[in-house]
Amino acid sequence: MVYSIPVLAVIGHKNSGKTTVLEGLVVELKKEGFNVASAKHVSKKDFTFDIEGKNSWRHSKAGANPVILVSDNEVVIKIRDGISTVSLGLLMEIAVENGAHVLVLEGFSDIVLKDKKVGKIICIRNKEEYDEYTKRTEGQILGFCSIKPFEEKILNTKDSILFIMKNVISFIEKTQKTIEIHKQLAGLDCRRCGKTSCWELAESIFNEESKLEDCFVLEAKSKLKTMLKVGNTEVPLQPFVAEIIQKTILGLVSTLKGVKIKGDEKIYINIT
Ligand code: SF4
Repeated sequence: MVYSIPVLAVIGHKNSGKTTVLEGLVVELKKEGFNVASAKHVSKKDFTFDIEGKNSWRHSKAGANPVILVSDNEVVIKIRDGISTVSLGLLMEIAVENGAHVLVLEGFSDIVLKDKKVGKIICIRNKEEYDEYTKRTEGQILGFCSIKPFEEKILNTKDSILFIMKNVISFIEKTQKTIEIHKQLAGLDCRRCGKTSCWELAESIFNEESKLEDCFVLEAKSKLKTMLKVGNTEVPLQPFVAEIIQKTILGLVSTLKGVKIKGDEKIYINIT
């Protein structure tokens, strides 16, 4: 998935103090000048914002999806089937469209625990949960906190943010710079650079261990030629148009099942 803004997640079991931590996080991020979007996963089964019998409920019942409620003060979008249809990509898209610099999540453990690009703050209630999350989490843990801290390294939920902010800001700055580098790479995730993804190369460039030129496709691209023929007639292409065709076709083809773009192939499209 392509990341457009840094994502932080406050995760933990029920009643572990997640909302208190998230509140503090939003307040401190706002003080630092960031526009913050947040999303909360409601784990309660059959939860709905809607009220049976209300007009919006009737729209939904009639089959409309999504149902969008617009008042003078708020817009609420009700998308059917909840978390099974909402991806992190969609949440980022909504956040960016509304001017957010950072997206903060409450919950969504299943989505973010193994996602190395998400910075995590973990709320725990006991040593067992500390061990559990330490074992299961991949990527950067920005801090552990607990309503009743049981060890020195575990922060108190109420003041945790003040102690974690340094980690949070450095995570956001690192991610923002990595996103900028990632945008300059070819974005095919073809592994020709020896990394598992373009994001991994972007991180390596951020850490000054690699260079943009290590992107094989980017290098090959400068030598690539795009030719468009209609019948036997070659259509002259402006460099700008040639690049659009090249990017569009490579992007499209690379997503197809069974296709592995190495960056040095010839692609023929025959439309009759
Ligand atoms: S060679 Fe370029 S396009 Fe391929 S994975 Fe590496 S950075 Fe991405």
